[in-house]
Amino acid sequence: MFEKILIANRGEIALRIQRACREMGIRTVVVHSEADTEAKYVKLADESVCIGPPPAAASYLNIPAIISAAEVTDAEAIHPGYGFLSENADFAEKVERSGFVFIGPRPENIRLMGDKVSAKQAMTKAGVPTVPGSDGALPEDPKEIVRIARKVGYPVIIKAAGGGGGRGMRVVHTEAALLNAVSMTRAEAQAAFANPVVYLERYLEQPRHIEIQVLADAYKNAVYLGERDCSLQRRHQKVIEEAPAPDLPAKMRERIGERCVDACRKIAYRGAGTFEFLYEDGEFYFIEMNTRVQVEHPVTEMITGIDIVQEQIRIAAGEKLRFRQKDIQLRGHAIECRINAEDPYRFTPSPGKITSYHPPGGPGIRVDSHVYQGYTVPPNYDSMLGKVIAYGASREQAMSRMRVALSEMVVEGIRTNLELHRDLLSDTRFTRGGVSIHYLEQKLAQDEKKKK
Ligand code: ADP
Repeated sequence: MFEKILIANRGEIALRIQRACREMGIRTVVVHSEADTEAKYVKLADESVCIGPPPAAASYLNIPAIISAAEVTDAEAIHPGYGFLSENADFAEKVERSGFVFIGPRPENIRLMGDKVSAKQAMTKAGVPTVPGSDGALPEDPKEIVRIARKVGYPVIIKAAGGGGGRGMRVVHTEAALLNAVSMTRAEAQAAFANPVVYLERYLEQPRHIEIQVLADAYKNAVYLGERDCSLQRRHQKVIEEAPAPDLPAKMRERIGERCVDACRKIAYRGAGTFEFLYEDGEFYFIEMNTRVQVEHPVTEMITGIDIVQEQIRIAAGEKLRFRQKDIQLRGHAIECRINAEDPYRFTPSPGKITSYHPPGGPGIRVDSHVYQGYTVPPNYDSMLGKVIAYGASREQAMSRMRVALSEMVVEGIRTNLELHRDLLSDTRFTRGGVSIHYLEQKLAQDEKKKK
């Protein structure tokens, strides 16, 4: 096992990784920007290295600075967390070429999955069902594009091959709007991801977002840890996640889980990963794979009893998976609310000093957050303050516990979306289970109308 790991991230996930390491007796090095000097995990780390000024491009995305920090501190491995450099194949390659272990998949796999066109093609080849659409990238010829869209059937969605974070997508309802939408998405994709390649898919009208968590070692052993339902989204960003997915038949879980595990073996995938699907009318359609730990990983940890971050570390250290599929038991239900520093209804970010902070507690409640009373949320990064996770024997119990937790929680000095979460936990359509990915936005639009 490693003696020292460098954590190349910030916020709650930096603390989460640090806790995993400390429990395993691994020393930690934290790299941080000038904006994060006062962060809790920086103080708790065995060593810390300031790698640059607040803008992420100069610090958390600064590959030479991170690798030098690993060199001067004699770290053996680098955990990239999520976001920032976690899905950057060049970074993974440079880490390994500099003699460190990258805690994540092989760079080839990151590259394959980082391009959504090649990811979809690889999945089709591996027998994973995908959303019907163009066979790879859209060609230049307008006539061809029109023909492809007709064949797929409207509405369609134009998506950037290099897209991520819910950006680089455009829904098209009619042929008249098609070509313009394609060129606009191309231009945006070029500007945002330096890659103008776009592809086309059928736009599913009422799907749920259901994703499968996998763990695979370097010896082609792989397991799936059940699924998460992340249908409550705003602007393609997840707000609440839960596991298992309400009313998903065990047979369906098994069938899709096995497909994912099989795909991992076929592409020699190593590490933790998530296969994201849209689920409609009893069918799964692959949309993308995330080759890293995800924000919502705790709900899976709660129902499986498996520490996903520790397993990532063990796999990176060359250990064999410690369990087989039959050892994976799903027990109970878990829900996660992402607590953001933002206006609960207008969603504008709200950085600043937290003057009062009371996290919730009690049976089945887990709070993954790096904030504390007196902490100043910097304006430079994403607005997530942390996550409240509630576990219960049943979905009802998990929800009751979450309601109590949200009622106890106090964050003052900045605005947060706690009120939105309280509202959602008492929304009958959501509590009944199985809402589509459009539900939250429809509800917000309706609530807005009522207010007027
Ligand atoms: P990103 O990498 O930006 O997260 P994804 O491909 O994972 O992009 O899509 C994000 C979200 O966009 C999905 O969870 C879903 O809400 C919506 N979406 C993507 N593809 C489709 C589709 N074919 N039909 C309907 N909604 C889609």
